[in-house]
Amino acid sequence: MIRFENVSVSYDGAEHAALSGIDLTVPEGELCLLVGPSGVGKSTLLGTVSGLVPHFTGGTLRGRVTVAGRDTRTHRPRELADVVGTVGQDPLAHFVTDTVEDELAYGMESLGVPPATMRRRVEETLDLLGLAGLRDRPIATLSGGQRQRVAIGSVLTAHPKVLVLDEPTSALDPAAAEEVLAVLQRLVHDLGTTVLLAEHRLERVVQYADQVILLPGPGAAPVVGDPTEIMAV
Ligand code: ADP
Ligand code: ADP
Repeated sequence: MIRFENVSVSYDGAEHAALSGIDLTVPEGELCLLVGPSGVGKSTLLGTVSGLVPHFTGGTLRGRVTVAGRDTRTHRPRELADVVGTVGQDPLAHFVTDTVEDELAYGMESLGVPPATMRRRVEETLDLLGLAGLRDRPIATLSGGQRQRVAIGSVLTAHPKVLVLDEPTSALDPAAAEEVLAVLQRLVHDLGTTVLLAEHRLERVVQYADQVILLPGPGAAPVVGDPTEIMAV
């Protein structure tokens, strides 16, 4: 579903490339965990999938990244909304409206989804993420875990094939983190969504993963395996 072919990224002024010569495949319908120490290039790798690199953060991308066959460099991130949904560490950074329900509808408005389909998708997403009881709540009054579920819901309404998340549980307590991870696992199993999740704390998330990509250090080749293989490294 996601292919990285000889991918390198360099930022202007940086001494070393943030990523070099990455060849990887993320299979469809799996929860794939991207782990490695801070600064090793996890966010950059996710950015090449969402199109943030090079369109928004700068950086020079060499090689090719395709999602469902679409080259992320030749499409603007907006044009990839029905292919890739992106969620960051801080859900508050996502929100542009007041209530949960408005936030779920917002992303679709700019995609030109017809109103009846929009309403159906909002309902479906509220149910899917266990947010139906919170639909009229101002986002500012929600807990961290609830906010992160709204952030996931707000990109899910576009029905993306791939969901990319950068340390989505890092600001959450363990119980809220588990809630979010369980939601992601359900999306993979029930809808066949492909999830690529970056995290520097392997222990917290590894039990939820189908596949793990380890970036061991700057410039080192990725190690790919199932969770038990990676835990042994
Ligand atoms: P990680 O997510 O694993 O912490 P990053 O992808 O954020 O790693 O960073 C990889 C390297 O690229 C680091 O050395 C970081 O300082 C550098 N870097 C990341 N983003 C930028 C940017 N926008 N401009 C310049 N350097 C950057
Ligand atoms: P529409 O595309 O008109 O919104 P539906 O809402 O009926 O049509 O969704 C089409 C199919 O997509 C349904 O089978 C539904 O189960 C499934 N689906 C629901 N949520 C998602 C999602 N987040 N990503 C992908 N498919 C989804």
